Amino acid sequence: MIKILNYINGAYTEPQSGEWLDNYNPSTGEVYAQIANSNHKDIGDAYEAAKAAFESWSNTTIDERSRILLKIASLIDDNLDRLAEAEAKDNGKPLSLAKTVDIPRASSNFRFFGNAITQFSSEAHESVGLNTMNFTLRQPIGVVGCISPWNLPLYLFTWKIAPALAAGNTVVAKPSEVTPLTAYLLGELCTEAGLPNGVLNIVHGMGPTAGQAIVEHPGIKAISFTGGTKTGEHLARTAAPMFKKLSLELGGKNPNLIFADCDYDKMLAVTVKSSFSNQGQICLCGSRIFVEKSIYEKFKMDFVLKVQQLKVGNPFEAAIDLGALVSKPHLEKVQSYIALAEKEGGTILTGGNPVSVKGFENGYYLEPTVIEVFDNQCRVNQEEIFGPVVTMMPFETEEEALRMANGVKYGLSATVWTNNLNRTMRVSKQLEVGIVWVNTWLNRDLRTPFGGVKDSGVGREGGFEALRFFTEAKNICIKYE
Ligand code: NAD
Repeated sequence: MIKILNYINGAYTEPQSGEWLDNYNPSTGEVYAQIANSNHKDIGDAYEAAKAAFESWSNTTIDERSRILLKIASLIDDNLDRLAEAEAKDNGKPLSLAKTVDIPRASSNFRFFGNAITQFSSEAHESVGLNTMNFTLRQPIGVVGCISPWNLPLYLFTWKIAPALAAGNTVVAKPSEVTPLTAYLLGELCTEAGLPNGVLNIVHGMGPTAGQAIVEHPGIKAISFTGGTKTGEHLARTAAPMFKKLSLELGGKNPNLIFADCDYDKMLAVTVKSSFSNQGQICLCGSRIFVEKSIYEKFKMDFVLKVQQLKVGNPFEAAIDLGALVSKPHLEKVQSYIALAEKEGGTILTGGNPVSVKGFENGYYLEPTVIEVFDNQCRVNQEEIFGPVVTMMPFETEEEALRMANGVKYGLSATVWTNNLNRTMRVSKQLEVGIVWVNTWLNRDLRTPFGGVKDSGVGREGGFEALRFFTEAKNICIKYE
């Protein structure tokens, strides 16, 4: 049985509690690893190691920091197969997805921020007439906390760690207790890359204990968190009295606006992907499809037909489209929304049932599910389901489409399908979200700002935004005669 140990001060260590959590393989339903059930004592140790490492790491040259981050990136590339297999086993996602998206993106995160830090500069302002020169010093914050979710485990874990380290901070990080395996493997790659001991500390365990201890620790001055909106709200309350800097990337209920003037075939293929990639467990998946009335019936027929062709199976099988959902409780939550949809008057157009995969009968598999609804206020159209479930409904006018798209508490991303440039601009400007994709989905350029509005979060990550978050700006004003 694999033991998922903490990585503190460059060494793998057992949790001080001596307690372990079961780690399940969602594709078989079996326990295959034991996870360190850490508490505030382990977080305390991780903090002390990070604090001790800060002086030296923050004074390490940009070139040297960059060189180490680029080395971590290439070690992730070298270990692509091993990491992708670990991710698929731990999360239930198709191995092909882990190999082509999750793990390559983890190495891109280190490569991108390893390069970005060499280009990160600050401003100078000369106050003419006052004879003063101001310049902005961007200093690392100190010890920072990074907390990440289970849906894109290594991808999102490294999305936080890489800019934090690049900017000269030292880190106490906690991956999700549901998917800790690739974060555990990352520790040894960091050591191999020459990252000094204590610069990155990875602690495993439950959110309300290990995660909470990071947020409560008075020495950890900033927290970058990705996860659910409820957890984010709790975290913000805990951190507020200490005035910690927070970046919160939270839940979503992303609309897909399909206008009749779009490139239909392209839209159809991408909409299937945006609804069901990673079993619908991407915060950016389109979960509410709004279709212009004139093409609604045709779209409904074509979309359902395409969804019915998707293959659900064991993540290690080639040519599957959907693997297993991440855990049994999560499967049950998603199923409860399907039952609720029927009670609320929705029609299940396809799917809705668990799938029994031969040889993997205890895995958490679910059919991709399409639900037709007629009331945007119903709970299935308002609450985040975060599974292979998408709703659809028609609209008559652009105004109505926008009203429904914006009529939720969330505001992460939206996708718009149209070939009308004026409409593209009008709609994009009025959508209450942080990211709009037009005639595409999940096209990510790491230089762009990433984040949500409303209950989808506070702050932006990505590009220099992330480096700004992980530094404090200090203005220095010099008077000259
Ligand atoms: P979650 O909020 O349950 O957990 C996220 C992380 O927070 C985990 O590591 C967990 O252990 C930790 N945590 C839980 N309670 C904590 C506490 N009291 N203090 C500190 N840490 C605590 O979320 P999840 O179920 O792992 O992930 C799914 C959610 O993440 C969905 O809502 C999804 O939309 C969201 N998400 C958002 C983005 C984004 O970029 N906006 C990206 C991916 C996922």
